[in-house]
Amino acid sequence: MTIEQERRLVTSIPGPKSQELLARKQAAVPTGIGTTLPVFVTRAGGGIVVDADGNQLIDFGSGIAVTNVGNAAPRVVERVQKQVADFTHTCFMVTPYESYVQVCEKLNELTPGDHDKRTFLVNSGAEAVENAVKVARHATGRPAVVVFDHGYHGRTLLTMTLTAKNMPYKQGFGPFAPEVYRVPVAYPFRGPSDAFEQAVDVITKQIGAENVAAVVIEPILGEGGFIVPERGFLPRIAEFCRENGIVFVADEVQTGFARTGDLFACEDEGVVPDIICTAKGIAGGLPLAGVTGRAELMDAVHVGGLGGTYGGNPLACEAALGVLETIEEEDLVAKARRIGEIMLPRLRSLQERFPTIGDVRGRGAMIAIELVKPGTKEPDAAATQAIVKRCHAEGLLVLTAGTYGNVLRFLPPLVMPEHLLEEGLTILEKAVAEA
Ligand code: PMP
Repeated sequence: MTIEQERRLVTSIPGPKSQELLARKQAAVPTGIGTTLPVFVTRAGGGIVVDADGNQLIDFGSGIAVTNVGNAAPRVVERVQKQVADFTHTCFMVTPYESYVQVCEKLNELTPGDHDKRTFLVNSGAEAVENAVKVARHATGRPAVVVFDHGYHGRTLLTMTLTAKNMPYKQGFGPFAPEVYRVPVAYPFRGPSDAFEQAVDVITKQIGAENVAAVVIEPILGEGGFIVPERGFLPRIAEFCRENGIVFVADEVQTGFARTGDLFACEDEGVVPDIICTAKGIAGGLPLAGVTGRAELMDAVHVGGLGGTYGGNPLACEAALGVLETIEEEDLVAKARRIGEIMLPRLRSLQERFPTIGDVRGRGAMIAIELVKPGTKEPDAAATQAIVKRCHAEGLLVLTAGTYGNVLRFLPPLVMPEHLLEEGLTILEKAVAEA
């Protein structure tokens, strides 16, 4: 049954049924698992999320950049339903099945670069990044990993260490993994303007380039605040890696699968990573992630050195094939660009009216505004929260991000109808004006 593509509020947000469920959540689930918007979802599709009270909210979050093809996308549903009735699991390392291989073939073909590639599948973005580091260390025989200010790579011990922001991701969870080094990123709004030179200085003078297995970077830094590195930064880092035998790892977990108006964000500047990590948008919400890399790196690892019980589960693989078909058949790369073309001008004109918006940035359907105290670059997390609260009360689901908690990020499903996108922006404009 399709969901009417219409915002509809029938109770206050959250309504009584959601509040009841929230009380149960609080009694059953630890406080460490936060809640952005406490409405309990019963259905979702297109650009709409339906809650237990019958409210219909406009979705500017896509479950954090996951449901790029929309929730319960028809091709995903059809494939998963068939698969769940055929078999649900064998463990690919025990007895393989075709869909896993098909997903790997597709990723080898679709990711940047026409070199010989190999892919293997795991369950989450963190697991993909962690495995990319394992492969890079094994292939190079080197220990060090270089990451960037404002970077986010996951919550496992290694990927938490790779992540920049202390609160809430790292506080109290140390000691951290060794041999992780952090360098500046070229953040146009905040600098530094010589980030590349500083990064190279740290790598060559403090670590020694010959000790570095991998440089890991998000082509647009997601949780850090949708930071689009200054043009030229990524290609220069990639070139430095090539010259020094360092594996260049692109973490495209958040930017992947048409989100930024390219299938992968690296394509924007023609950057070809040695290893690319994918997750989130890959399978429409079923847990799946991929590690795709140069054949000679990936095949350096001995038999049995990689894998896991559930990696590339058959339901998730079928979902991924349905996602890739949907992206192609509905030309979601073009849809993502169109979303950017609608959002960016409206947000820029809002910025002209309200100096609390310090920066408007992003590409395709990965767009953000950074909020500051007017006339300064001082982050304004309180204003950000005030705007979020108003948006949520009006039935617009938005997310925050940023090292300083002052970024509002917008990640609509790429299939969102334009009238909902425009309505969402109108709600946001009102919320900014009121805040
Ligand atoms: N890398 C990036 C760039 C991410 O945005 C995320 C998730 N926000 C991760 C890695 C971790 O992915 P997961 O939550 O699936 O482990």
